Amino acid sequence: MKEFIQQIQKAKNIGITGHIHPDGDCIGSCLGLKQYILDQYPEKTIDVYLEPIGNEFYFLNGSDQILSQDSGQTYDLFFVLDCSSTDRFEPFQKMIETAKYVICIDHHISNHGLGDYCKVDPTASATCEVLCQIFSMDKVSKKCAQCLYTGIVHDTGVFKHSNTTKQTMIYAGELLEKGVESSKIIDETFYQKTYIQNRILGQALINSFLCCHDQVIYSSISKEELEYFEATSADLNGIIDQLRVTKGTEVAVFLYPQKEGSLKVSMRSNEKVDVAKIAEQFGGGGHIRAAGCTIFGSFDDTKQKIIEKIEEQL
Ligand code: AMP
Ligand code: MN
Ligand code: MN
Repeated sequence: MKEFIQQIQKAKNIGITGHIHPDGDCIGSCLGLKQYILDQYPEKTIDVYLEPIGNEFYFLNGSDQILSQDSGQTYDLFFVLDCSSTDRFEPFQKMIETAKYVICIDHHISNHGLGDYCKVDPTASATCEVLCQIFSMDKVSKKCAQCLYTGIVHDTGVFKHSNTTKQTMIYAGELLEKGVESSKIIDETFYQKTYIQNRILGQALINSFLCCHDQVIYSSISKEELEYFEATSADLNGIIDQLRVTKGTEVAVFLYPQKEGSLKVSMRSNEKVDVAKIAEQFGGGGHIRAAGCTIFGSFDDTKQKIIEKIEEQL
């Protein structure tokens, strides 16, 4: 990708961001890209902007320098990673608008183009996998590999989701050769849960029910339950994945409240239903088997609307 190297060489200062509520792929791709550039161009100023990240990711190099607020700086080059629409990088939108050149790298099927140059590969398991395509593997350091491997592990659910391809495994193997601490990354960033996270997962499973001839499993967590368990929305990651593996179901839906009275909708499907299509109808996006959106309304209305759309596809 000529554009990528040329723009980096030209830029004195570079900004990098991803989507709101950053996940493993978002964090891994932002920090991995920063590391890759710094390894070759140590003189460049590179700032990563993200909302606060989970402390399980603090072992990644550069995680302690992440900025969580708009600094008002103007950048020669700004990267937007793992992010399919402008509302998903809203906290840093101003800096992206004032940047001289914006490159977007992503793998969401719902990404219809962002910035001055946009590379989207919906067949890639993770944005970190798209970075593996772009980077010269011989220039990837262990520090960079740790970030990229973390992203691939998270977006594939530890190489388990249907987005895991032969190519994903080849890249993961190449990253392992760089000395990546695979077991540590998988255990400590993916499987380990805090006491609060386990308790709220339990509550979500108790709240769940089957509908649409048992093909759909639905659950939600209320604002009161979040308060009762002293949990934040960051503690709800992974609940949707547990719902999805309910034997016999095709679609899992999980709702939880966000700030300003909106509801976050997470959806997963197993074989047939295109959940990205449903999410897009409500202004969200994602992938065929994993997608999400934000809806203003009550739990009951939102549940109704989503289930209607799922039924159309079943
Ligand atoms: P989640 O259910 O939040 O884990 O999201 C599943 C997938 O859908 C991820 O790849 C997200 O990046 C994407 N996604 C979730 N919410 C939105 C949204 N509001 N707009 C666009 N994409 C989303
Ligand atoms: Mn993501
Ligand atoms: Mn991703």
